[in-house]
Amino acid sequence: MGECLRRACPCLETLWKKISGEKIPSVSSPDLYVALWSFSARHRDELSFTEGDLLRVTTCSGDWWTARRTDRTGSLLDSGIVPHNYLVRAGSLRSQPWFFGQMNRIEAQSHLLAAGNQDGSFLIRQSEKDNVGHVLSVRSSSRVKHYKIHAASDSFFVDPSQIFISLVELVKFYGSNSLVNTGRLGSVCRRKQPDTPDLSHFTVDEWELPQEQFTLEEELGTGYFADVYRGRWKNHIDVAVKILKSDSELNHREFQREVQILKRLRHRHLISLFAVCTAASPYYIITELMEKGSLLTFLRGPEGALQDTGALVDMGAQVADGMSYLEQQNSIHRDLAARNVLVGGDYICKVADFGLARVIKEPFYISDDKKIPYKWCAPEAISHGKFSSRSDVWSFGVLLYEIVTYGGIPYPAFSNQEVYQQVTKGYRMPAPPTCPDLLYGLMLKCWSHEPDERPSFKSLKLQLDGSSYEMG
Ligand code: ADP
Repeated sequence: MGECLRRACPCLETLWKKISGEKIPSVSSPDLYVALWSFSARHRDELSFTEGDLLRVTTCSGDWWTARRTDRTGSLLDSGIVPHNYLVRAGSLRSQPWFFGQMNRIEAQSHLLAAGNQDGSFLIRQSEKDNVGHVLSVRSSSRVKHYKIHAASDSFFVDPSQIFISLVELVKFYGSNSLVNTGRLGSVCRRKQPDTPDLSHFTVDEWELPQEQFTLEEELGTGYFADVYRGRWKNHIDVAVKILKSDSELNHREFQREVQILKRLRHRHLISLFAVCTAASPYYIITELMEKGSLLTFLRGPEGALQDTGALVDMGAQVADGMSYLEQQNSIHRDLAARNVLVGGDYICKVADFGLARVIKEPFYISDDKKIPYKWCAPEAISHGKFSSRSDVWSFGVLLYEIVTYGGIPYPAFSNQEVYQQVTKGYRMPAPPTCPDLLYGLMLKCWSHEPDERPSFKSLKLQLDGSSYEMG
């Protein structure tokens, strides 16, 4: 729950206190935050702070806040700009060392299985699934078990025979009593430092940056339209630099217009666009760096092979979540596929290549239709160029197929032309072996001939949200 939102809404505040068992805080300290990690200022107006420091926040809009450090006596020290995601409200549930805020199953697994944690290590997270609430994730025999925490008005439990008045009490109890199939909770999971939300607070509005500010390191990938490098901004922030192969084909005005639109699009499951360099050729597009590369390569590699059905469904849910946001913003992707979803170091999946993809790719499609991704395209998009959120939903069905086959090629026996002919005659791919019925049912709905009969991304996300939990 956003800290500002909680401050703005007293009833949410009351609810929060109930969940956390938090004592009523002094009304004089609603702006007091604590730093979960240390932060080193990279610019003159940023404020450095150390883990555990107390900060009084003076403005909190957007991702960069203004704050003043205070000492334990409450005296005010230096002030400056700080990344909001390094801070949590002092005394809140979020400031409990074991509460990790909103996090999905795969991220929890990656945290708990990382070096430094042992069996018994645990965290409590807020599920990304609207209908789930809090989940206790525990490392046990080198895997991770997830316990849904049931919550009624004044009670919390994983096992109905043991009811607690707050999460704090629940954690205390299972520190000295065994959870079913797991044993006692051991040490709290180690926290990974988050990325900062932009290159810096001043690039939030200033997107055109000089190429000279970026250094290129290793090549991460190469596509039809661009080469992508790991790079650094001003030698201190890791980024991905996408260098367009042919900006001469671009409609420059349209490119700039699309950049303006993309500035607004911010979501946990969409790649953040940081900046563009368009003063000279070749153009650079600067985005956040995703350590594990494309979902397609990830699924086909050794780490992909380790993902169980629950994790695969979760990846689909994350993509549906990002796409649901685009749908709500009336933004159409046009090229949704596993190759255009990127996986982060913490296994988070983010949709990439939206917005600018159309402006960059369309001139190529017109000159060479072999480059059109037929196997992912809805029939009406191929026949009449009718792209919509519902044609994205068709592509999402193909992406689900790629996920459950660990990066398999769709319609393996057909050429591009054959796919279009077969699909318009009513052919649909059969269920891949071991594909859960839920997923195949969703794929078929995504491939409804009539766009209006396809589900929305919002409903797809909800349907993908029903995966299983350990019993208390
Ligand atoms: P194109 O649009 O020309 O096909 P892509 O954007 O798909 O190019 O990028 C090609 C490859 O570069 C991807 O498959 C992926 O492996 C890598 N890549 C792209 N963007 C990033 C990023 N932000 N972080 C890490 N790797 C990336």
